[in-house]
Amino acid sequence: ALPIVAVVGRPNVGKSTLFNKLIGQRLSIVEDTPGVTRDRIYSKCEWRGREFMVVDTGGIEPDTDDVILAQMRRQAEVAIHRADVIVLVTDVRCGVTANDYAVADMLQKSGKPVVLAVNKCDTIGEPPLELYEFYNLGIGEPFPISSQHGHGTGDMLDEILKYL
Ligand code: GDP
Ligand code: MG
Repeated sequence: ALPIVAVVGRPNVGKSTLFNKLIGQRLSIVEDTPGVTRDRIYSKCEWRGREFMVVDTGGIEPDTDDVILAQMRRQAEVAIHRADVIVLVTDVRCGVTANDYAVADMLQKSGKPVVLAVNKCDTIGEPPLELYEFYNLGIGEPFPISSQHGHGTGDMLDEILKYL
């Protein structure tokens, strides 16, 4: 079986946009409304001749009474459990949120390798200063990416390949 890369993070950070960019198709629905992806969506992906499965998840809201959000979190937990590498997606425009800390903590407890992607870094050139704040999550180097434009995804994929 191919190794599995799971894309996780809070709702609305751009997980589905990244997933679609990685697989080169619009398989997952991208929405401004948080929480559109409820199930796990799988697709094959290739980078530098290496094949793996990418999984899009609905997003993780750590503390929630909402049934749908709790179900999405459960799906994300299953994806994390099955993954060989986890990509934690965050949003540079929001900065580091309490929720990001909670998810990072949960990922560290999983013991799986985590690659930290800071999405919505849309401007080419020097990474934004806000990027460095993401070191505070304690899960390593933040990779600036723009899932919309594709910037930075190559470096992020190179990092992912190190763990496959
Ligand atoms: P998800 O809930 O994490 O799957 O997020 P989506 O992929 O559905 O995206 C949520 C919103 O963020 C949508 O309006 C996307 O168009 C937008 N978005 C995603 N990636 C980027 C990006 O790289 N740059 C910008 N500016 N917006 C993005
Ligand atoms: Mg989504």
